[in-house]
Amino acid sequence: MAVFCGARDGVDPDHARAATAVGRTLAERGITVVYGGGGTGLMGAVANGALAAGGTVVGVIPEALIGPELAHPDLAELHVVSNMAERKAMMADLADVFIALPGGAGTLEEIVEQWSWAMLDYHSKPVGFLDVKGYWSPMRELVAHMRGEGFLSDRGAAMIRFESSLDPLLSALEDV
Ligand code: AMP
Repeated sequence: MAVFCGARDGVDPDHARAATAVGRTLAERGITVVYGGGGTGLMGAVANGALAAGGTVVGVIPEALIGPELAHPDLAELHVVSNMAERKAMMADLADVFIALPGGAGTLEEIVEQWSWAMLDYHSKPVGFLDVKGYWSPMRELVAHMRGEGFLSDRGAAMIRFESSLDPLLSALEDV
């Protein structure tokens, strides 16, 4: 499963707690975590949560970000790629499901790309937002707005799921 999330912690410490718990739960379920390979922010929290629970974590990081995003030293695999496009392509290949935790522009770009690819039938992998403490509610509103304004099909809107906790999100994604 690919997890996209912020390279920062955010203001509310509950976001890092939730990210750590996601990593731990995925590890306990035997699900390999594919992520951006960084050690900072929620990215680092997911990886550390999974590693502490004995999970397998695979990172994919562009060479230029090894320093700024503090490439994680303890991963099962760390793929160093030349640029962001290669990172996203490799993460897309390695993962069977994509989820986004709270994050910034990078997170949004990565998850929306996967959603748009699903709509274009480039892949049929499920895409979900973990809506921790309502962080993604503006995104939900945007999706409803796109739909209402006729720029998004019902099929496209149904291709992303929002849930406030991990178990319901994983269940919802199994039905996609
Ligand atoms: P952010 O959500 O902005 O904290 O970024 C989270 C991750 O997304 C970081 O690993 C960034 O390197 C990555 N990222 C930033 N910009 C992009 C982009 N245009 N496409 C894909 N990933 C990005």
